[in-house]
Amino acid sequence: MIPYEVEYVRASSVQDALSLLSGDADAKILAGGHSLVPMMKLRLARPSFLVDIGRLAELRGIEVHPDRVSIGSATTHAELAVDSRLKTLAPLFALVGQVIADPAVRNRGTIGGSLVNADPASDWPAAVLALDAIMEVAGANGSRRVPVRDFFVGFMASAVRQDEILTRIHIPLPAAVRVGYRKFRHPSSGYAVAAAAVTLRFDGDKCLGGTIGITGVADMPFRAYAAEALLAEGFAGGVDEMARIAAAAFDGVAPLEDSFADAGYRLQLGRVMLKRALADACAGNQAGTTCSET
Ligand SMILES: Cc1cc2nc3c(=O)[nH]c(=O)nc-3n(C[C@H](O)[C@H](O)[C@H](O)COP(=O)(O)OP(=O)(O)OC[C@H]3O[C@@H](n4cnc5c(N)ncnc54)[C@H](O)[C@@H]3O)c2cc1C
Repeated sequence: MIPYEVEYVRASSVQDALSLLSGDADAKILAGGHSLVPMMKLRLARPSFLVDIGRLAELRGIEVHPDRVSIGSATTHAELAVDSRLKTLAPLFALVGQVIADPAVRNRGTIGGSLVNADPASDWPAAVLALDAIMEVAGANGSRRVPVRDFFVGFMASAVRQDEILTRIHIPLPAAVRVGYRKFRHPSSGYAVAAAAVTLRFDGDKCLGGTIGITGVADMPFRAYAAEALLAEGFAGGVDEMARIAAAAFDGVAPLEDSFADAGYRLQLGRVMLKRALADACAGNQAGTTCSET
């Protein structure tokens, strides 16, 4: 299908974008356009007015502060995948960024668009959950900070309201550097059928615990807190331990079902992806060496 006619404005600043949004309840932000435009073609979204923030310098780029890394929401997947500071400080970004879709999507699509769109099969949600990110959201009355645990609120729904803009994603430092990301790609779209992001904290050889973010499996991404509690009891990378942790992660989860993966298969893929991500993180593999997706 072809897109319908729609008004389009390139915003000159975040403030300009916010005032354009507040003037039209049917207006929508356009960033990379790689989710919104396909949805408009399918008539799954019908905004009357697009406010383009994709080229705003104030929303792009990566800043390193003593206590956090701060990422502009319009930073592209490709920029995040190759940034050398992120590779050192938060290597999960390189792992995840390089397995999103294909180069065309990675060069245009943005982390902010992916997070606000909150597609349950997107990759970034698992990573930002595992990294305990804090989202900065701008609105007419100023900015508010939303902890990632409160950010995803339902199927394709985030805490960002129609008249707000996700401006920055803050990653607290130090972030764990022993990480893993495993994704079972849908063979046609490339989206995650099931994927797991893992961070592990170590003191020498002793694992002190970690975090687990899951995407693809349920109607919204989630932190596997019950599995993390097992990690915190002590984790040495044993096969039995991993099986127990993987079982706990998906206990009580209502899986999505579609023609590619029924509920049982999707849960099994989730457990397998999590065990492999745990094994990667436990082995201390670094970004760029463990991006195998299956
Ligand atoms: C063929 C194809 C394959 C793909 N495969 C994958 C994949 O494997 N993994 C994956 O994770 N993703 C995949 N994607 C999705 C891709 O990553 C998108 O780029 C991303 O989901 C949306 O980012 P965007 O910048 O394009 O957002 P847009 O499409 O511009 O916007 C998406 C939504 O977010 C809103 N929005 C955007 N930015 C902001 C903001 N800063 N503040 C408030 N609202 C905002 C928009 O109003 C819209 O509702 C794929 C897309 C395509 C077309």
